[in-house]
Amino acid sequence: MDRFTIAKAEKLGIHDWMLGLKEQGIIRHLGYSFHDTPDILEAYTIKHDWDFVQIQLNYLDWELQNAKRSYQFLVERDIPVIVMEPVRGGALANLPEAAQSRLLEADSAVSAASWAIRYVASLPGVLTILSGMSNPEQLRDNLATINGDYQLAPDDYELLDEVRQLYLASGRIPCTECHYCMPCPAGVNIPESFALYNRYLDTDDTAALCAEYAALGSGQPNACVKCKACEPKCPQKIVISKELEKPQHYYEFTTAPCDQVQPPT
Ligand code: SF4
Ligand code: SF4
Repeated sequence: MDRFTIAKAEKLGIHDWMLGLKEQGIIRHLGYSFHDTPDILEAYTIKHDWDFVQIQLNYLDWELQNAKRSYQFLVERDIPVIVMEPVRGGALANLPEAAQSRLLEADSAVSAASWAIRYVASLPGVLTILSGMSNPEQLRDNLATINGDYQLAPDDYELLDEVRQLYLASGRIPCTECHYCMPCPAGVNIPESFALYNRYLDTDDTAALCAEYAALGSGQPNACVKCKACEPKCPQKIVISKELEKPQHYYEFTTAPCDQVQPPT
């Protein structure tokens, strides 16, 4: 739910309809998944009775999207919190080099994803953590984390504060590649445009930037006509039309002869 879907749901009387289903035993626990700013969450939560609320929560968004405020609001009202994006679509598993090094320095045996899961698992009031996993190795890592002693110590919070600052200083665009913004009417491949830019920041590999950019074909960021149709759909609240200027800028001003680089087959 966001401000637009909430307005629609309210107009259609969705909550009353769901309450009816709950009274019939068809719904056992009534809650909602939320993608907007804390003030909207507060207003909608107060308006009805909820058994849980699902929010995006991780150690980066604690400050970046003020997830702290939403979390604290729910906990103060004894509303169980379901956490989505604990590893921020994988971004906190594949950290910028300086942030990754800092974690390895603290404990070389613990994965970056494990630190992210431990952060949300340590918060009181968290009922469930939804973690997307792509392979058995990630599943094993998550299970080992949650079956172990996952509670963070005070020093760990300081460490993750440091990692957060290093992440923010890296200049990465906070896109999780969820594709909610797609399709773009002008054909821009928004998630891949941001992904290649973030990879370039990490690797400084100009040849790869050129090749990946060329491979986007008609989906290149310069096709953006700044209609902003994509922006309300982005759960990360990225000002997409503005941020697309970054990969465009790097491509145009790179010192390598991009026109001589062949896209991958
Ligand atoms: S602002 Fe740009 S990227 Fe977004 S929908 Fe419009 S043309 Fe596509
Ligand atoms: S720009 Fe936003 S909506 Fe689009 S893929 Fe990235 S995070 Fe998802």
